[in-house]
Amino acid sequence: MTALTEDLILSALKRIAAPDGRGNIVSAGLVSPVAIKDGTVMFSLAADPAHLKSMEQLRAVVEQAVKAIPGVSKAMVTLTAERAPSAGRNGSEAPASQTLGNAVPGIKHLVAVASGKGGVGKSTTSINIALALKSLGLRVAVLDADVYGPSMPRLFGIKDRPEASSAPGKRLKPMKRFGVEVSSVGFLVDEDTPMIWRGPMVMAALTQLLREVEWSETDVMIIDMPPGTGDAQLTLAQQTPLSGAVIVSTPQDLALIDARKGIAMFRRVNVPILGIVENMSYFICNHCGTRHEIFGHGGARAEAQRIGVPFLGEVPLDPDVRSRSDRGEPVVEFLPDSAHTALYRGIARTVWEALEGKAGARPQTRVVFEDEA
Ligand code: ADP
Repeated sequence: MTALTEDLILSALKRIAAPDGRGNIVSAGLVSPVAIKDGTVMFSLAADPAHLKSMEQLRAVVEQAVKAIPGVSKAMVTLTAERAPSAGRNGSEAPASQTLGNAVPGIKHLVAVASGKGGVGKSTTSINIALALKSLGLRVAVLDADVYGPSMPRLFGIKDRPEASSAPGKRLKPMKRFGVEVSSVGFLVDEDTPMIWRGPMVMAALTQLLREVEWSETDVMIIDMPPGTGDAQLTLAQQTPLSGAVIVSTPQDLALIDARKGIAMFRRVNVPILGIVENMSYFICNHCGTRHEIFGHGGARAEAQRIGVPFLGEVPLDPDVRSRSDRGEPVVEFLPDSAHTALYRGIARTVWEALEGKAGARPQTRVVFEDEA
């Protein structure tokens, strides 16, 4: 069988006429770079927001055409309404000044939880803030967009796969656990298959999870971002209609440098920083009760003050948090009276107040750091 290549897919797409009748969808610059992995083909089509209905029909046609190519087991084609069609196939990267995506109907606030690097506790913070928001009486959802290591199914203790949705325009139902709706990029791709994710592919996957999952009415959706500040993260920050971002950092200097890059990235695309959480801030010994500042604690608070973003709190390192996480027993749900839960509730309250206070008021100033990457 002929190997699946981007050229092969594009030659099939070139047979499909562009909506304005001039040339085909490839020559019209509507097709993003194409990602292919083990028979799964992913790309997006740029759509004029004024013609979303007809573009949806075109999307379905394109998806069928791709599925019909021998060797294709799955086709994931999404519409991106944020980008005006570019002049051609090359040089089609989105400009930094583009408008943010359309709001997602039924979801009041999208909040990114991000970190400059992996392993700082971003996912642990995401699930516990989500559960703490729920404990405040809010309707909460979690979207696991961490393409490099989707961990929400494990943290929530979800072992099943989502059901297909029969609602118009929807594909999947969200999973529900602890009263929170959850979907994960891990449900779209095989978790064990390493993939190289480029911005447009991450966006295609996120768009599916955001718009084609049958979410209920939601006050806050927490998006567990992929760690880092590369092209994939920037595309997400830029093209998702975020109400704000929470940055997670450990107290180590290196992590703070990375956290600064994360903050700079969101500021560059005018997403308000709701605050920094310092995770694994200190360790209270179970035996002697002494507080050990393993990583030299307090760095995130000082840094937050220096760069003028709210400091949301210091979450101590606790082996129980880790072992419970691994068992799918998040502390906020399983230890409601613990000090950790009180901390996460405090963080959740501050985040909610910031969201409601700031809703609709995006700062327009662009702040540049001298050490901005
Ligand atoms: P990330 O999403 O940043 O990669 P995770 O949330 O997966 O990080 O956390 C990395 C590891 O650290 C996990 O094993 C998790 O259980 C553990 N961990 C996170 N926060 C804490 C904490 N406050 N105390 C103890 N272990 C933690």
